[in-house]
Amino acid sequence: MVTNLRKIIMAYQVCINPDCGCRYEIDRVLHSCNVCGELLDVDYEWDLIPVPDSLCYFDRYRFSSSGGVRNFSGVWRYYEFLSFLPLERLVSIGEGRTILQDARFVSSFVGIDAGRFFLQYEGFNPSGSFKDNGMAAAFTHGSFVGAKQAACASTGNTSASLAIYSAATRLMEAVVFVGSGKIAYGKLSQALDYGSKTIQIDGDFDDALLRVRQIASESGIYLVNSVNPFRLEGQKTIMYRVLDDLGWRVPDWIIVPGGNLGNASAFGKAFIELRKLGLIDKTPRIAIINAAGSNTLHQLYGDGEAGKLRWNGGRYDKVMVKNFYDKMTAESRRAHTIASAIEINRPANLSKALRTLEFCNGVVREVTDQEIMDAKAIIGAGGFGCEPASAASVAGAKKLVEEGIIDKEQLTVCILTGHQLKDPNATVAYHGTDQNFFKNTLGKFNITSANFANKPISTPNEKNEILKHL
Ligand SMILES: *Cc1c(COP(=O)(O)O)cnc(C)c1O
Ligand SMILES: [Zn+2]
Repeated sequence: MVTNLRKIIMAYQVCINPDCGCRYEIDRVLHSCNVCGELLDVDYEWDLIPVPDSLCYFDRYRFSSSGGVRNFSGVWRYYEFLSFLPLERLVSIGEGRTILQDARFVSSFVGIDAGRFFLQYEGFNPSGSFKDNGMAAAFTHGSFVGAKQAACASTGNTSASLAIYSAATRLMEAVVFVGSGKIAYGKLSQALDYGSKTIQIDGDFDDALLRVRQIASESGIYLVNSVNPFRLEGQKTIMYRVLDDLGWRVPDWIIVPGGNLGNASAFGKAFIELRKLGLIDKTPRIAIINAAGSNTLHQLYGDGEAGKLRWNGGRYDKVMVKNFYDKMTAESRRAHTIASAIEINRPANLSKALRTLEFCNGVVREVTDQEIMDAKAIIGAGGFGCEPASAASVAGAKKLVEEGIIDKEQLTVCILTGHQLKDPNATVAYHGTDQNFFKNTLGKFNITSANFANKPISTPNEKNEILKHL
């Protein structure tokens, strides 16, 4: 059965290290190259795949629940670009039905002309974050290879996504590893509510990922973190949808928060492939935005302490990375930011993100938690709403406009990675009047003021008292 399928599948896994380039079959479960330890890509025999001549081909797949998986899913709609398994094997719970929003009331805050600034609203996914794009692809692969259990380490949203796919499809049982006290309640509540086995370990995300990678490779539990190259195939589709909603125009800028750097990696791969296939004639620039309290990429790529790390055709300076990580260990440095979804100091997809930065002429910036929470309030007041990590993209856009890197006429897309209701504590602390709650929730992240707070008004329950406020 598997042998037959293999014959008709035009995909394989390949090491991204140009000095290695080792290939692996599609049904292998690997988190890195067995020979050199680098990350793996899923790649395709493009000559053998019926790729359309024009992206307009995809216009035929409009959302519907009765038209098959390509109409049901905003991931599998673009099947030609991620056809690593046959159509009848694809898993979907209706992910990727997300939209690009013209964010007029946010654009003036950022400093970009109205009508030129858009938000890709990935909080609209079934579990409320972009992770579902990747989980559809990972679940497709994991169930194909016959895994019975799937696991992840998570700052919250990967676990929520894994949990919902497990509950909705019953294809694999979900086991989620979370750091203690590090997960926003909205996300933890999802993992519990969807019935996943939830293991809280002492430590943070970086500790949890190390542990789950070890357990997964020893036990045959299928790992769905973004070191899984199939997951990133699903996340490429976020970029296809951006282009799709722009009438297949390519924007000038894509701006994305950087945590484990899976999105940044997937977005770059999407554009590399579209260019190679001749389906777009321009590449957008990308900006990856770190939180200042978990800024490894910014330190290594930008003007940080470590120097200028570049992809360099795949021969990047691994010693520079190792020295930086050793120094973090020696100083017991821990990631620390209100944007818990990007509270990661050892981004697993660092090398792939460097590749993206090179291909997309990218920039990296860091934003403070104060800037993140202020941007988040503007996004909410603009009629959208997101969790703190997502607002890093908008705070970063504002910074790049101020620096003159982004021009006010440039077509700019920020990715809103997660839903507003994921982290209500942060939102209520920011807008509320309870000073203790503010201090306990936001104060420990050096957030001192709520510059755009919409404070609730307390008043006696008397008509005239109330009317005074209206
Ligand atoms: C996972 C996550 C991120 C970080 O994405 P990476 O691909 O790991 O860089 C950002 N925002 C939200 C809401 C997330 O859930
Ligand atoms: Zn290799």
